[in-house]
Amino acid sequence: MTKLIYLSDTYLANLNTKFKHELIDDIGIALLIDQTIFYPQGGGQPSDVGYIKSENTTFKVTSVRLNELGLVLHYGEYIEGEFTEGEQVNLSIDFDKRILNARVHSAGHLLDCAVSSLKLAHLKPTKGFHFPEGPYVEYAGILENKNDWIDTIQEKINDLVKENIQISNYSLSFDEAAQKNIWAPPGKSARVVDFEGFEVCGCGGTHVMSSSEIGVVNIRKIKVKKGVTRIAYSIK
Ligand SMILES: [Zn+2]
Repeated sequence: MTKLIYLSDTYLANLNTKFKHELIDDIGIALLIDQTIFYPQGGGQPSDVGYIKSENTTFKVTSVRLNELGLVLHYGEYIEGEFTEGEQVNLSIDFDKRILNARVHSAGHLLDCAVSSLKLAHLKPTKGFHFPEGPYVEYAGILENKNDWIDTIQEKINDLVKENIQISNYSLSFDEAAQKNIWAPPGKSARVVDFEGFEVCGCGGTHVMSSSEIGVVNIRKIKVKKGVTRIAYSIK
């Protein structure tokens, strides 16, 4: 398994570690590394991009995936040279993109907090799309008079931004997670995100440290179809 350093530190942009080996699959060349700061696309959040370098070699990382064995595959292309097994390498991510992705993704959780604060308990979050282009959260359940809610939800979420709610990430044991209805792999722990004062939520994404870092949130559109309410938002 690749050690996932991004889970414990959203703000780490550089890391020295060891190159393991590479493989070629349907997508292209993939590098495997001992531990990584690159977030692999998943949970509605895009992957990080950046570079893996040693003294004589540069590899540009253009997409990242996590496979079923827990290995992170860094896809991209060699700009110069090639790595040898066991070589020391430096990983660097595009930090501006990382923080933008973390803010957009955290805004999705804050939207859940706003929905819960407004006592819209019949709306259960089911799916999030947190790419910078057109993010949204989908809820099982119908929001009646949806357009009347746009301003109310927007006002509430921006109040929560101003409240500077602290955001932390930690692990719950399998049993602790089960008690809170949070999924964890059989016998394993669950990684959760905790917006202080709200229910914790199982999530393997990258988050900012406080709601004020998210910035102003705009509620763009609310769509209700086939028992699902989709709330689209953007951040400034
Ligand atoms: Zn998350």
